[in-house]
Amino acid sequence: MLNKDQFADNHFIRTIIEEDLASGKYQRIVTRFPPEPNGYLHIGHVKAICLNFGLAYLYDGLCNLRFDDTNPEKESDEYVRAIEEDVRWLGFQWHEQHFASEYFEQLYQYAVDLIHAGKAYVDDLDAEEMRRYRGTLTEAGKDSPYRQRSIEENLDLFQRMRAGEFPDGSKTLRLKIDMAAGNINLRDPVIYRIRRARHHRTGDQWVIYPMYDYTHAISDAIEHITHSLCTLEFEAHRPLYNWVVEHIGMAHQPHQYEFSRLELLYSVTSKRKLNQLVVQGHVSGWDDPRMPTVSGMRRRGYTAQGLRLFSKRIGISKSENVVDMSVLEGAIREDLENVAPRMIAVLNPIKVELVNYDEAITESRQAPFHQQHPEMGERLMPLTKTIYIEADDFALEPPKGWQRLTPGGEVRLRYSYVIKCEEVIQDASGRVISLKCRIDHDTLGQKPQGRKVKGVIHWLSTEHAVPAKVRLYDRLFTVPRPDAVRGDDGQYRDYIEFINPESVTEIDALVEPVANTLPAEAHYQFERLGYFVTDRYDHSAENPVFNRTVTLRDTWQAQADKK
Ligand code: ATP
Ligand code: MG
Repeated sequence: MLNKDQFADNHFIRTIIEEDLASGKYQRIVTRFPPEPNGYLHIGHVKAICLNFGLAYLYDGLCNLRFDDTNPEKESDEYVRAIEEDVRWLGFQWHEQHFASEYFEQLYQYAVDLIHAGKAYVDDLDAEEMRRYRGTLTEAGKDSPYRQRSIEENLDLFQRMRAGEFPDGSKTLRLKIDMAAGNINLRDPVIYRIRRARHHRTGDQWVIYPMYDYTHAISDAIEHITHSLCTLEFEAHRPLYNWVVEHIGMAHQPHQYEFSRLELLYSVTSKRKLNQLVVQGHVSGWDDPRMPTVSGMRRRGYTAQGLRLFSKRIGISKSENVVDMSVLEGAIREDLENVAPRMIAVLNPIKVELVNYDEAITESRQAPFHQQHPEMGERLMPLTKTIYIEADDFALEPPKGWQRLTPGGEVRLRYSYVIKCEEVIQDASGRVISLKCRIDHDTLGQKPQGRKVKGVIHWLSTEHAVPAKVRLYDRLFTVPRPDAVRGDDGQYRDYIEFINPESVTEIDALVEPVANTLPAEAHYQFERLGYFVTDRYDHSAENPVFNRTVTLRDTWQAQADKK
């Protein structure tokens, strides 16, 4: 559930909006989230979504979802649908949905107007020549020999570009601004190119496509966007944005403001790189639970609420926004702590026979699904003569400070008795096969007499436990900046080299019978082990499949502390 508190962190864009509302410049703000449908949304987009939708929500304004679909080769309907679904799942509803491609005819007409006004011309330079004419940061560019074409000739050529008379790449339409401008983006930027590519919405209707800067500014103006928020790499494009908005002569003039991109350590946040992981088969798809995509994180068990909390925590500013994975995992844990009921799972079982427990009986104790949330109810924890405990909770030779089970040692079974280990059964190689333990019958719901038993371990009745597949996920990369590691030769190394080979393992585990009643995407805490979720696709009540969302503690930090 959304509430205004979630978006009420202070930052410079809010200050601007408050001033604009207070001065009466706008009665109501209108923002937009403008993804290009060339991949699935990732954690960086979550930041932009929470900002744009969050501000509209906070100020009772409007936010549009607009697809910036001007590069037909890379875009598809599949991506459009995935993006819509992700935005909704994150908890947001757009005011209007638009596609930049809806505006192609209008954009064309504005270009014709600009030609009429002597502010655009058709150029025949090819990409290489254009680069040479453009100049550098320190050197002014040169006018193209085609810059002085007459308005009539330009109108005729542009119309014939549209009609498909010229081959791909042979001509462009450029704005006539200033080839000596200090800002290279103002050196007669190209606004149309010829490209014979089938568009996912307009099909083969167009062979010329408008460029991003031109399209984006006009789309914002058409939709009456008040605050057009984008990442810092567009800062140098703002003069061009303003030029376009001014010269097309629309009454409404949107303004662009920039904030820093989120960079998440141990991850890559670029659709192009994520696409490579998918295409080369390093992950099972865009929604692989190890992916930093919205659909991957959802499948992993991250919650929309947790992602919104994360987004609030990282803040909005113009300074670098490099964030450790532990911040994301911390926000997810914090949300799950409150909303995930508890259950018991034994991931790596050893059998324990309770030698002084009657085979004919089953004692069942009530156990709450969540200690702090009685409204989540209770379930029965049946105790039988044989139980499973976690192999990790037993040590033949315990290290110092060990509080779990050892030969001759005592431990409490969660929600049940204190037991003492009397016998260890091992195979020929010394591997522990099972244990024989004795119950202290006086310890149900009360402390043992005359001694302290500190350890508490989880367990399951062998008669009641049900099998489940459990997928243990870990970080996808082994280094903080997989796409910024340089080799001895100074060149960037391929980030594929840094994929964590142990980022997923699937095990056969045992869980409580409640697993056989769960729908997909049910969040649970496996007591003492971590947060888990039933898999969105592979889980069924008959054959439960759980994904580990996050461990209870930050195990990566613990490792770093040891080093
Ligand atoms: P990518 O490089 O992954 O393709 P992009 O910026 O090209 O990202 P778009 O689909 O064009 O992706 O982005 C939609 C919006 O999301 C833009 O306003 C963009 O600035 C914003 N955005 C993208 N990545 C991030 C990020 N890492 N942090 C914050 N905002 C982002
Ligand atoms: Mg892009």
